[in-house]
Amino acid sequence: MLKIITSPDPLLNQVCEPCDLSDKGLKKLAKQMEKAMYANDGVGIAAPQVGVLKRLIVIDVSPEDVRDPLVLVNPEILELDGELVTEDEGCLSCPGVSVPIERREWAKVKFFDLKGEEWEIEGDGILGRCLQHEIDHLNGITLFESAKPRDRIKALKEYEEARRAGAKPGETSVPSTPKVR
Ligand SMILES: [Zn+2]
Repeated sequence: MLKIITSPDPLLNQVCEPCDLSDKGLKKLAKQMEKAMYANDGVGIAAPQVGVLKRLIVIDVSPEDVRDPLVLVNPEILELDGELVTEDEGCLSCPGVSVPIERREWAKVKFFDLKGEEWEIEGDGILGRCLQHEIDHLNGITLFESAKPRDRIKALKEYEEARRAGAKPGETSVPSTPKVR
């Protein structure tokens, strides 16, 4: 299982290189990212989160009992539209916190699939938000850079506490009493 890189690892703040569409290793990388995403209860994952500085993301915003991953190679935002909406976001690389992030509610993205075919996807709600969040990762931007200054200060403080408390990827808050499973 690939290990999830967590903030403040400097790898998370690098701008990633475009993928070579003929790279046979992309399929394996996507599969491994998919596994890591599901194992940590994520709805999306970007290659730099597993330490690979390439422009590749995997998302799955389908209902929890359905697995329908979508691999996006070299995704690019074509258009953002709609209202600016602020919602709390979590990130596998910032375990233990959720941070209010303002985004446009609708996004249109072009990408390539693993066969090198070009596609477009568009959507609002969690899909629009997830696309923007994951593409941010490819540009070295995490929740902490996306947040407004005041939210950022608060989030970094909470994150320090969460790290001390041993928060794991997939957790968006640290329970005050230990969870019993
Ligand atoms: Zn993230």
